[in-house]
Formats: sequence, C-alpha cells, structure tokens
Amino acid sequence: MADIVILGAGIGGMPMAYEMREQARKEDKVTVISDTDTFHFVPSNPWVGVKWRTREDIAFPIAPYLHKKDIAFIHSGAKRVHPDKNQVELMDGRNVDYDYLIIATGPKLAFDEVPGLGPEGHTHSICHVDHAENTANAWDGFCAMPRPIVVGAVQMASCYGPAYEYAFIMDTDLKRRKIRDKVPMTFVTAEPYIGHLGLGDIGDSKGLLEAAMRDRHIKWICNAKVTKIEAGKVFVAEHNDDGSVKKEHELPFIYSMMLPAFKGVDAVFGIDGLVNPRGFILIDEYQRNPRFRNIYSVGVCVAIPPVEVTPVPTGAPKTGYMIESMVTAPLPTTFVPCWMARSRVKKLPGTRSAWLTSAILALPLWRCHRSPRATSTG
Ligand SMILES: Cc1cc2nc3c(=O)[nH]c(=O)nc-3n(C[C@H](O)[C@H](O)[C@H](O)COP(=O)(O)OP(=O)(O)OC[C@H]3O[C@@H](n4cnc5c(N)ncnc54)[C@H](O)[C@@H]3O)c2cc1C
Repeated sequence: MADIVILGAGIGGMPMAYEMREQARKEDKVTVISDTDTFHFVPSNPWVGVKWRTREDIAFPIAPYLHKKDIAFIHSGAKRVHPDKNQVELMDGRNVDYDYLIIATGPKLAFDEVPGLGPEGHTHSICHVDHAENTANAWDGFCAMPRPIVVGAVQMASCYGPAYEYAFIMDTDLKRRKIRDKVPMTFVTAEPYIGHLGLGDIGDSKGLLEAAMRDRHIKWICNAKVTKIEAGKVFVAEHNDDGSVKKEHELPFIYSMMLPAFKGVDAVFGIDGLVNPRGFILIDEYQRNPRFRNIYSVGVCVAIPPVEVTPVPTGAPKTGYMIESMVTAPLPTTFVPCWMARSRVKKLPGTRSAWLTSAILALPLWRCHRSPRATSTG
C-alpha cells in the first residue's frame, strides 16, 4: 500500500487526484490537502470582477466530490513540506506522512515586489476569487464616476492572458453601460510587444492583439517596469530593447488592475533541491523532482525557465491545457517501483515544448472570454 498525497485542490490538484485514483491500486490511499474547502475555477475570476459571474457560479465544495471517488480530503493549509521526513506539516498542527507527494499549490502572488501593488495597496486583483469579488464591488463604484483605467501586468509576471482579457471585459462592460467614452484606458505590460504573452513568436498574436486593442481605443506601453504605485498614480519606466530606460511615465488612474509576478508558496520556499530561487518546484520531464524522487509537481507551481530574454523580465505562462498535460506525466513513474511493469514507462507528452504548444492552442480560449456566453470554461 502507498500513501499518495496531493497538495492543493485547484486546476492541477483536482484532475491529478481523479487520475491518480484511477491509476492507483485499490489498497493505495489517495489524499488531497487543501487550504480551501471549495474548488474555484480561476479562469472565470475576470468575469467575477465585473459581476458577469458570482462566486457561486465558479466554485463547488471539494469534499463530497472527492469522497464519492474514495479520495480522502484534509481541509488545512500546509505549513511546511519536510522532504527529508516524507511529511507535510499542516497549519492545524497535524503532520501527514506520504510515500509520494504531488505538489499542486499554484502560485504565491508576489504583490510585495512592487510598492503599492495589489489589494493591500492601490490596485485591484482578479487572481483569486476573493480579490475578484472585492474588485467587482469597486467596479460598481468606479462606473458611477468613470475616469482613467490602468490595466496590465508587472515585470516578472508570467500570466499575461488575464490582463488582456480583463481589459477587453472592462471595455465591453463600459460600452454596455454607455460610458466607455469617459474612460481613457492604458495597458501597461512588461512584454516586449503586445501579444508576446511570455511566449515569444506565436503566429500572429502581435497583429491580432494590437488590432483588438486599437479597435477598443486601448493605448499601451510595452517593456514597462512598474516602479511604484501611489493612490491614483502608476509610475512606469519604459525600456528600450537594449534595456536602457526610454521614458518615465506617471499614469493617473481611478481604477487599476495589474497582474503581479508569481512565486512559490511559503510551504516549500527555500527548500534546497526542491525549489528554484523563486520557490518553484524543480522537475524533470515526468514532473518528478530530481533530488527528492518521490515528490512530483503539476500546475503553476512548477519551475519553467523564461522562453527568451526580454528587456524587462517576463516569465513563461502555465495555462490550463498545459496543466492538464502535466497531470498525466507523473502517473506511470509514480507507481513503477511498486506495481507497474517497467515496459509501461514511456515519456508522456508533458514535455516543455508540448506544454508551450498547448499554451498557444489556449489562445483562442482567452479570446472567447470576451463574451460571457462564448465559452464553456466560464
Ligand atoms: C485570473 C486568471 C485567469 C486565468 N485564465 C486562464 C484561462 O482562461 N485559460 C488557461 O488556460 N489558463 C488560465 N489561467 C492560468 C491557469 O490555468 C490558472 O492559474 C490555474 O488555476 C492554475 O492551476 P493550479 O492548480 O496550478 O493553481 P490553482 O488553481 O491556483 O490551485 C492551487 C490550489 O492550491 C491551494 N494551496 C495553495 N497553497 C496551499 C497550501 N500551503 N496548502 C494547501 N493548499 C494550498 C490554493 O488555495 C488553490 O486551491 C488563468 C490564471 C489567472 C490568475
């Protein structure tokens, strides 16, 4: 019998638990640990941010669904992973032993890396459903007194799609309220050009997204480093391709949503051999940690190097389709030592190039989000 523990119950953790239950032996125990007792469909947060969806529309309780599949559920945050003891220390004081651990905690939102950024500073967030709900309340207030919007993603961000998506959603919502003409909108991004998305050269993403921005009268600043945010003002250093500063901007705003950079969560941050300097889990092509061979990782918390060097640092995105393909990669290797025939082990499509291809395929998904009825993912 093996104790298989999955840490995190989001877009990576839940499918991982289901897949693992199917592949594991009957006598193996699969346990999910989560700091929240409800699953949230993160890609729908931008809609919650303007009240096109409510929390109830995009969340469901985790326990009944896992129990139906004979998967154990522990509702507690992990305080620290102890790979040397094969143990997860929980916030509630308990320790959970594992034979195999799959880390799927998603990111820590690094608002602290830019002074004034985030819900505790001066900008809104749609990264978590709690943030998106607060954002929605502020959105109503803003629409009563519409003035400039600054939207985008700061340096080291890796998830650019939601920034574009939210800009287009706000544009649509303002048009429906017949106040779009009162709102100058500026898109600020660390990307070297519109449509780079942390991925570089992907079809005509530049042409398509630039056209979409022009159509909607959204101005943009690329190669942008946000140096600080004060109440009503974003300070931006726009860079040249050689990395030198081209222009300093002070952008006034009444409403702003800027995506932060991501880091690894505190429960793993700094563990030698498990994580990189930003706290992301180091993995091989089977999602397995090279040092702690019984630890795997899927989702946004894995370490993927940037696709290319950009004048202002950008990260590589980890999207839903990529995460699904990551989930299938650890399955054969997890169980080889205990029950699977070695002949079944083959390299699964969880390679980096396959992930990035799937990220490109995900692009139409971002666009679909512009209409509240256009996609099944909402
Ligand atoms: C606003 C937004 C929109 C996006 N839209 C799309 C999209 O349209 N298409 C697409 O392909 N991708 C999209 N993405 C990217 C990606 O699909 C999502 O970020 C996805 O939710 C990542 O899945 P995950 O399982 O890695 O992390 P999450 O879904 O964030 O799940 C991680 C879970 O782990 C829990 N957790 C964290 N720390 C601990 C701890 N210490 N102990 C226990 N539990 C813990 C968290 O509470 C959370 O439930 C979007 C991302 C964002 C931020």
